[in-house]
Formats: sequence, C-alpha cells, structure tokens
Amino acid sequence: HPLVGFEHSELVYPDGTHALRDVNLTVREGEFVSVVGPSGCGKSTLLRLSAGLESITDGYMQCGADRVGYVFQDATLLPWRTVWDNVALFGELDGVPREDRKHRIAAALATVGLEGFEDHLPHMLSGGMRMRVSLARSLTLDPDLFLFDEPFAALDEITRERLGVELNELFAAKGFAGLFITHSVSEAAFLSNRVLVMSGRPGTIVDEIEVPFDFP
Ligand code: ADP
Ligand code: ADP
Repeated sequence: HPLVGFEHSELVYPDGTHALRDVNLTVREGEFVSVVGPSGCGKSTLLRLSAGLESITDGYMQCGADRVGYVFQDATLLPWRTVWDNVALFGELDGVPREDRKHRIAAALATVGLEGFEDHLPHMLSGGMRMRVSLARSLTLDPDLFLFDEPFAALDEITRERLGVELNELFAAKGFAGLFITHSVSEAAFLSNRVLVMSGRPGTIVDEIEVPFDFP
C-alpha cells in the first residue's frame, strides 16, 4: 500500500477557496517524488494533507505512513535553543528512554554533518546548516515519509547544489521515501526521477516528467 495516495482529491478551504482539483498522486516506499509548480497552485496544501494537518473535502485519500517528517524552508528553529536542543525538540521523543533519545539525536546530527555544532545557537549557523538541523530533527522521528516544503528556497546556489547532492545520496542509501515540493524544475529534476507538474487555480497535476530529460 502507498505511503500516501490521492485519488480524485478535492480541497475547498472553509473560506471557499478551491485549492485542489482532481488530484491523483501516489508515493510508494522508497520513492522520492518531486512536485513542481508556481506559487498558489496548492503545493503546500498537498503537503499539509500528506502530513494529516488538513483533510480533503471530496474524493479519496489514503495515508499509509505511521510517521511523517516535515522539513521546512526556514527550519523553524527556536532561536534561544542550541542545535542539540532544537533537534531534541519533538515531543514524540518524550516517550523514548533517555539514552536512546541521546543516541538518536547524536546519530541524526552525524548523518547531516553537524557533529561539533551541538552547542551552537541557530543565529551562529548558515542557512544551509539551519536546514540540516531541520532535517536532523525529522530524522530523530524515524519517519516513513519525509515531506519537504521548499527547503532550499532561501539558500544560495552553491549550498543548494551541495545539499541536493547529499540529500540524494542519503535517500538513495537509506531507501527513504520523500515528497518534495519546489517551484524550480531543475531542482526537482536533480533530486528525483519522478517529477510531477502542478498548475492552475484550483491546482491539479497536469504532467509527469521522465528524468533525465533534455531542457529545450
Ligand atoms: P503553493 O504552496 O503552491 O503556493 P498553497 O497550497 O499555499 O499553494 O495555496 C493554494 C491556494 O489555497 C492559494 O490560493 C492560497 O491562497 C489558498 N490557501 C492556502 N491556505 C489557505 C487557507 N488556510 N485558507 C484559505 N485559503 C488558503
Ligand atoms: P538532563 O536530561 O538530566 O537534563 P542530559 O545529560 O540529558 O541531562 O542533558 C543535559 C543537557 O545537555 C541537554 O539539555 C542538552 O542541551 C545537552 N546535551 C546532552 N548531550 C549532549 C551532547 N552530546 N552534545 C551537546 N549537548 C548535549
């Protein structure tokens, strides 16, 4: 069964905004799917639905993931907390025994290359490193599905490319599943072999691009 599946899904917000129309999308285990499209076509809405933070108003939706990890663009870090404490933040870790919790945090920080930065405050870090903290925070939850909401949007080109390569390698090595939204076609094509194109208002998926492909 899919980690997340939309079939003829519709979403109309309470204020009447019709955000999604007839969306069909499936993410299976081990798949990394990108969705590309302009602002306002409903990409964030799609992610919030996948995380269970919103419900469709018509059609069908299936969620097979027990745990999802949400990685945001601005990393939503608490500025007065150290890197370690920011990664330790998720309430879900409260029930995990202390030693195990420490292991998970240390392992996640090692995975994203942040060893030695445990005691830094967010403002001491670059944008790319803040994004790593956000990713580490998700990793501690051991999610079945990672959701990325334009995590590279605020980063410079070189950092973006470097993080993209690392993310690629990490997901390929671990077989993690991901749903990645962006407005950059090149970023989407670089990160995944399934790129879905969204457009319109209300938004829907209008195309699927096979990668590699030739830019015109
Ligand atoms: P994207 O991420 O592609 O920019 P969004 O999913 O944020 O698109 O938004 C899709 C549409 O839904 C937009 O027209 C936006 O204004 C509208 N929208 C988003 N969130 C809400 C909300 N909570 N209530 C009403 N309309 C919303
Ligand atoms: P307690 O849970 O009794 O407060 P801990 O030994 O778990 O004590 O941690 C105390 C504080 O030290 C934590 O809140 C965290 O900020 C920090 N800390 C713990 N382990 C590390 C580590 N490996 N690297 C950096 N900071 C750590």
